[in-house]
Amino acid sequence: MSKFIFPAPELLGAPVKGSTSLFPVARIFCVGRNYEAHAKEMGVAVDKEAPFYFTKSPFSYIASGSDVAYPPGTSNYHYEMELVVAIGKPAFRVSKEQALDCVYGYACGLDMTRRDLQLTAREQRRPWDLGKDFEESSVMSVIVPVKDVGHPSKGSIELRVNGEVKQSSDLSLLIHNVAAIITHLSQFYHLQSGDLIYTGTPEGVGPVVAGDRIEGSIEGVGTIALQVTSPE
Ligand code: MN
Repeated sequence: MSKFIFPAPELLGAPVKGSTSLFPVARIFCVGRNYEAHAKEMGVAVDKEAPFYFTKSPFSYIASGSDVAYPPGTSNYHYEMELVVAIGKPAFRVSKEQALDCVYGYACGLDMTRRDLQLTAREQRRPWDLGKDFEESSVMSVIVPVKDVGHPSKGSIELRVNGEVKQSSDLSLLIHNVAAIITHLSQFYHLQSGDLIYTGTPEGVGPVVAGDRIEGSIEGVGTIALQVTSPE
């Protein structure tokens, strides 16, 4: 007899380089304003003391290479190219020295955003969920294990729309680096294998429309792509 009154939704799985097994996508933490030039373009100050976060549902995950319909409820659908950290071991109240031990690997991510809804929420001092946490909004490439990629702390991060470069920065410009983020986040959560951290986007965010093709890359980590199709 089943434990649930109807079949429980299954966790989504992300591909892992060099493996036929999938990475189970659990919680998705996203860092806000982690590149100074992006905070500036958003008209807000950066907090160099500590990162801040919002979260997205695990069910917002979608694989790189997918077609995604222009989402409902927005007329300002934006890309945000980001380095993603995939957690592979528990971490709670870890020091900066220990922080990277829990990392399974790294990936390219797109934190797709309904910017109009996010900014309205921000102005009204309401949560960002409608702007950030929606279906097919957490795009991720294949995860590259640490044994193959190391811990990237510098290198180009770039995004193109229809071949035109829109975002071009360097991982070394992260205000809070990966070790600092994990150390801070682990003061508040028991990080677990399957958790993902989107580390924030550099400047150059902007809108896409139906028919646009988004392509991104992070030096040493890989590439990501998304095709935007007509709204449902
Ligand atoms: Mn973001």
